[in-house]
Amino acid sequence: MNALTHSSEDDLIFLDELEAYETSPIVKTSSTWRIMIIDDDPDVHSATTFALGSLEIQSRALSFLHAYSAAEARDILENESDIAIILLDVVMEQEDAGLQLVSYVRKTLGMADVRIILRTGQPGYAPEIDAIRDYDINDYKTKSELTRTKLYTAVTSAIRSYEQICAISTSRRALELIIKASTELLALQGLQNFATGVLQQIISLLANQTEGFVCTKQVLDETTNEINELTIIAASNGFSDYLNQSINEATNATIQASLHQAIQARHHLYQSESTVLYFGNIKNQDLTVYLNTGLHLNELDKRLLEVFCSNISVGLDNVMLTSSLHNYAFYDPLTGLSNRLKLLQTLNETLDSPLKQGTVLSLIDIDHFAETNDALGHQFGDLLLCAVAQRLVNIFGNDCQLARVGSDTFALMGKETRVSPDAILALFSLPFDVDNQVVQLSATIGLVKLMDCDGDGSEAFKNTNIALKRAKTHHRSGYAYFTRDMGVEIRERVRMMHKLRSAFENEHLFLVFQPQVDMRTGQALGAEALIRWKTEEGEFIPPDQFIPIAEYSGLIVNIGEWVLRSACFELVHLRSCGYTNFQMAVNVSQAQFSHPLFMQTLHRALHDSKAPPDCIELEITESMAMEDPDLLIKTLHQIKQLGIRVSIDDFGTGFSSLSHLQKLDVDKLKIDRAFVNEIKDSSGDGSIAKMVVQLGQSLNMEIIAEGVETTMQAETLLSFGCHLAQGYLYSRPMAKEDLYAWLKTKSLP
Ligand code: C2E
Ligand code: CA
Ligand code: CA
Repeated sequence: MNALTHSSEDDLIFLDELEAYETSPIVKTSSTWRIMIIDDDPDVHSATTFALGSLEIQSRALSFLHAYSAAEARDILENESDIAIILLDVVMEQEDAGLQLVSYVRKTLGMADVRIILRTGQPGYAPEIDAIRDYDINDYKTKSELTRTKLYTAVTSAIRSYEQICAISTSRRALELIIKASTELLALQGLQNFATGVLQQIISLLANQTEGFVCTKQVLDETTNEINELTIIAASNGFSDYLNQSINEATNATIQASLHQAIQARHHLYQSESTVLYFGNIKNQDLTVYLNTGLHLNELDKRLLEVFCSNISVGLDNVMLTSSLHNYAFYDPLTGLSNRLKLLQTLNETLDSPLKQGTVLSLIDIDHFAETNDALGHQFGDLLLCAVAQRLVNIFGNDCQLARVGSDTFALMGKETRVSPDAILALFSLPFDVDNQVVQLSATIGLVKLMDCDGDGSEAFKNTNIALKRAKTHHRSGYAYFTRDMGVEIRERVRMMHKLRSAFENEHLFLVFQPQVDMRTGQALGAEALIRWKTEEGEFIPPDQFIPIAEYSGLIVNIGEWVLRSACFELVHLRSCGYTNFQMAVNVSQAQFSHPLFMQTLHRALHDSKAPPDCIELEITESMAMEDPDLLIKTLHQIKQLGIRVSIDDFGTGFSSLSHLQKLDVDKLKIDRAFVNEIKDSSGDGSIAKMVVQLGQSLNMEIIAEGVETTMQAETLLSFGCHLAQGYLYSRPMAKEDLYAWLKTKSLP
């Protein structure tokens, strides 16, 4: 369902783009662009902050405000100002909660500057054109379209527009004109209409003092990618004879040169006699506007045009989208099945009828579809989806409701006797024959009995999604029925996430340090930094409980950066106290590690603290090593180039193969404390620990044992050839003051 979270292909593009955008070194300024995320799905919040979190636009970082319902959003908006963008979910408490909120923002609160980007789970939820026009909605996207790259582009362009609007808000009237113009344009369908509209609006913006035309380069033939000359697709009166002609035929060399210059530079061109506005390349269309302005435009006119353009570039992208969306308000264009909107209607009707008793709603999510799509191509992926849809129709079409509700998610609703996990899974038992290829698919299913639902259709839908997510995390290729406990659990997790966020912001998190010792000499070689959270009520929440929530919500990226920096600064302080060989080990989560700005974070921590890289050790877990081997190898390589050391934590609990390990450039293996714990008395032999030690030795890696609690364990480990350890036998994790006191009792290394 949630396409924001799985777009690994896009992430790579994103990286490239990042480099292009971030040409200037990051300069922290005091103010940030404030972005408000309003969405009832915490995943969307985390995915968004994760995607945008550390980005800077024009040297200003982004900061986020979060609301999980329209009601919460109202409370926040009443008290906040300077919000640049609202990223708004259309469907929340009610189907139109999002649009009602927009009306509240624009009309009741009178906030005209803030840019609004609407997001919705499904195409069927396109807002009415009237709404777009009346409420000055900047942009409209389905969530599946908002991959990282697109999100970033949409946000960047909205911020530019916001900035310009703020800059000229003195000229209110002109601004209103632009906003009216751009929203009217959003309603136009088809490129030619759009171009004509753009031209009309520009001419009226410039008080009818100008003539001009719009031209594009168009792809004539998709297969050969043949591109035509610049063609005039819209023209004002003075140029109307040249409509649909190439500029080579219609215009003189000077005009042609100006157009080419603007396109090449990808920029507007202001000349003494004329102006060329460049609208960027959108969907293979290089939209360019030539204006016979006659004299140099004044600064205000230029600014107005620029605001207009930045609003329009987004509009252009939407022209095609919005028009097709409205044609398909209720049906999925690919498979011809109902879409989510239609399903919700039927669902609401069923919930209100006696049929509720005995009806089951299920969501069927195809496993690894994204990978299949990437491997075999999108066209093939589409065919595959159609094949699945067809099979669903064949088997359930007569007496059940079917819909496609996400890129690779189908909904099926019907009598309990029909809609069962067995019946659905049976559908996937035979392979699919698509385009002469045989593909075996599997699916994960979330189900809900409508009798277990209290609210309306969207509530029931949400519950099914919760069950689906549960089925995915607990057993692939399986299924789960929604239970009321699941709802409670999710709410609890969201509550904890809020608490954690404010604990982090209010500096209620801190680090403790657990020494790592050489068992032969008893000397401390270094320490592992471990995070602690003490709540306002004085309760300690163990990291095993809150780290997963931090990871799930994306908060780990910021928290992890803070841990890293604090640990580096502490290391430098320790060195200044004479512990010059001290090593500091820092835990790093998968989400941090795979974040596109992780290396920058690392650089910055080293640079700001002046910590020597070879005294810093990052602990990654073995399961991370399995997740995305290619990314891991690449990132490890970059880390090693910085001189930072890497160890594999909890070693032995994952599934690393020897060959896999050999490929990884790591310095140390950390034997998981479960295996140390096995060394109990003479009968518990610790054979796994022994094996890990031998493995490490054969790969020339250092070995450290964690969770060493008894001298017996220490001696056994020493006899295996493992010399380094960490554990209660030597010391518990300590506050930094206690660490210094503890170190004093040892001789200086
Ligand atoms: P871990 O990285 O395996 O950390 C070692 C854990 O073992 C620590 O628990 C430590 O207090 C505990 N321990 C140390 N010696 C002994 C012993 O002799 N006996 C026993 N029974 N336990 C021992 P802690 O501090 O509760 O941390 C739990 C986990 O939370 C860590 O496991 C790590 O996965 C995560 N974590 C802690 N701090 C951070 C952090 O800053 N960032 C990230 N990403 N994860 C962290
Ligand atoms: Ca660790
Ligand atoms: Ca560990």
